[in-house]
Amino acid sequence: MVDMINTLVSDDKAYTTDDGVYLSISSVPDYGLLAHQSLDDMLSGGGDREVFGASNKRHPSDFALWKFSKPGEPSWPSPWGDGRPGWHSECVVMSLDLLGEGFDLHCGGADLRFPHHENERAQAVALGKTFANHWMHNGFVVDIEGEKMSKSLGNVLNLIDLLEKYDPRAYRMLLLQTHYRSPTRVGQENIDACVSALAGLDSFAARTSAHSNGTPDLTVMDQFTTAMDNDLDTTTVMALVFDSVRRANTAMDTGDATTVSSVRAAVVEILGALGLELSLGDDIDADIVAKGVALDAARTAKDFAAADALRDELQSLGYVVETSKDGTRIRRG
Ligand SMILES: [Zn+2]
Repeated sequence: MVDMINTLVSDDKAYTTDDGVYLSISSVPDYGLLAHQSLDDMLSGGGDREVFGASNKRHPSDFALWKFSKPGEPSWPSPWGDGRPGWHSECVVMSLDLLGEGFDLHCGGADLRFPHHENERAQAVALGKTFANHWMHNGFVVDIEGEKMSKSLGNVLNLIDLLEKYDPRAYRMLLLQTHYRSPTRVGQENIDACVSALAGLDSFAARTSAHSNGTPDLTVMDQFTTAMDNDLDTTTVMALVFDSVRRANTAMDTGDATTVSSVRAAVVEILGALGLELSLGDDIDADIVAKGVALDAARTAKDFAAADALRDELQSLGYVVETSKDGTRIRRG
């Protein structure tokens, strides 16, 4: 960090004031790129302490690369005086050191776009280096009323608790249903909705498992690629998945095996790419599977008392028993 700041100082792109070393943002022609604001707009807007805390800076938007320490504060030596690096300096040096110039993707929360990421990038540009090719800023996780989760509001849902209670795929699905730049609402009702949507997808995969040898439907795959190319529009992709499942289910009912296998293959491929592996329920122990087979045999023989007894037994062991005209499917409840 000291080396980087030294380079900027000797290139006259940074300078010393009475409280630190500052980057001269006039050395960064496109400053404001991430904030989507020109420098003039930022100045007339005002109000940001980090940007507008001008004392003897050359320009109000110049920001600290190195802050001199006050007595008793933690500090490290530097050619300009003891102090500590600015937050933006840490990040730009780490990124360029570990990832190199022109790395592909820089992510972060929407609140980091400005000033943090703007100022990281500004330092790289001032150094004459290519920084991130793409920036992606995600929306906040909010509660069901749209309020940002925060400890002080007490509306925080702990991810570890969430994953203990629910299938982790349900939370993943919830995230995928919201575009990453939008706030993600997380609450009981939409987690429940995802749990049951997942059960629907799993049961679709099991119901159509005899048609698992198809090649993915090209139209569906094209729609998938187009949506993902559009700034990772996973909201549209999830709608496409549920649409395709409906189509395949209809095809199943009308005995159109070609459509079932190609649409099923597309759904499995898309969900696999999104990290949502479907469960066919084949992680069930053999003796439980045998009870399901016996249940089907009892139904075929119209021995409904025996079928009911087997169903009760499976349910009391914690399994969900789904019976359709294609047979009985057992999954963990
Ligand atoms: Zn950073």
